[in-house]
Amino acid sequence: MLTTLLYRSHISDDVTIKTLEAMVKKASERNASYDVTGILLFNGRHFFQLLEGPEAGVSAVYDRICADNKHHNLVELMRDYAPARRFGNAGMELFDLREHEEFSVLQAVLNRGTSKYQLTYADRALQFLRTFVDATEKKNYFEVLPAEHWEFLVDELMKPQASDVALPEGHQLFAFQPIVDPMSREMVSVEAKMRAPDGGPAQDHFAGLTPQETYELDLHSKAQAFAQAASLGIEGRTLSINLLPMTLVEVPGAVDYLLREIQANNLVPEQVVVEVTENDVIPRTEAFEQAVRQLKAAGISLAIDNFGAGSAGLLLLTRVQPDRIKIDHNIIRDVHKSGPKQAIVLAIMKCCSALEIAVTAEGVEKPEEWMWLEVAGISWFQGSLFARPAPGSIPAVAWPELR
Ligand code: C2E
Ligand code: MN
Ligand code: MN
Repeated sequence: MLTTLLYRSHISDDVTIKTLEAMVKKASERNASYDVTGILLFNGRHFFQLLEGPEAGVSAVYDRICADNKHHNLVELMRDYAPARRFGNAGMELFDLREHEEFSVLQAVLNRGTSKYQLTYADRALQFLRTFVDATEKKNYFEVLPAEHWEFLVDELMKPQASDVALPEGHQLFAFQPIVDPMSREMVSVEAKMRAPDGGPAQDHFAGLTPQETYELDLHSKAQAFAQAASLGIEGRTLSINLLPMTLVEVPGAVDYLLREIQANNLVPEQVVVEVTENDVIPRTEAFEQAVRQLKAAGISLAIDNFGAGSAGLLLLTRVQPDRIKIDHNIIRDVHKSGPKQAIVLAIMKCCSALEIAVTAEGVEKPEEWMWLEVAGISWFQGSLFARPAPGSIPAVAWPELR
């Protein structure tokens, strides 16, 4: 299948113009052998490349490019499919933007079009190319250090001490995972995650129950979440709990129950954040809105969990404004390498900034993911890079240190 792939990257420090010319010559031969067209733009610091050809050829060429240390911070911008070749014949051409007029580069690319009819100004690939030439997106080309520049050191002082942990008897129903601000080295919140007796996920606990039984268990389990958190000592931090949106709607007096249990454990409502998954809200938005008003009137905050994973996200923000949103781990995974994911994160941040909603990135596993998100302006993170959920205790956080 005919594939068009676009990426951009940063040139490595030790690459000279001479190496660049040799590189283009070699790439031209390799591309030709794969029947791939390559158009490479260079602005003195960044590369932008278009590859077009049979899917297998484009993938093979791109894999080699990804492994090449003459550049770094590769971001895949687009991968699209078309009925016919649009960008000329196999080989490789370099345009050094410092030596060409903007217009002449675009014209040269248009002139190479194999079919003028198909290569219109509305073509996405051509628009990407034009945006790079115009440098209008340059502010979003974030420099991310390679992972080996960082070391994640577990905070020994934060390790749970046997003596000061007085656990409730029996099965530890909840595991705790910190939400952290690595720049200020602060644990800003702790999330309580339900565990089945065998350590499995919350969903196992609900398996086989009727919907009503599920909602009741979901709500009543929170008595233990508060008791465990209080005995572990969460001090000035907020405590995040997960609830099915319908738990708040279908269990009569749900909010009053939460308030009673918060008070019984010497916590305050302002310390508690309820996390709900956006997708589960859709079917009964109106009833849910009513429950949210009750929560907010009692001083409890609301977070939308797994934001961006479902279809309710943006519409939901027009109906209820949460205090926080947590960007789904599927969007976070390899965000430093994906143009679409970067565009989505930046759009979510812009939207949340306009609405003064705090943003957390969840499921962060790689140093590069964290670094890209930090440069993009996110301050709160959750994920195994910093701390995995710990059954019955608040785990120590691994903080990043520059080597
Ligand atoms: P969630 O609140 O979005 O939690 C994220 C899940 O990802 C958690 O699984 C967590 O252990 C896991 N996780 C944390 N860091 C990472 C990471 O860096 N990488 C990856 N791949 N995964 C990570 P868990 O604890 O099994 O929870 C799954 C879901 O179950 C939760 O998603 C939450 O929506 C739900 N849940 C947890 N506790 C409760 C509860 O008390 N009530 C209800 N209704 N749902 C709950
Ligand atoms: Mn959650
Ligand atoms: Mn989540």
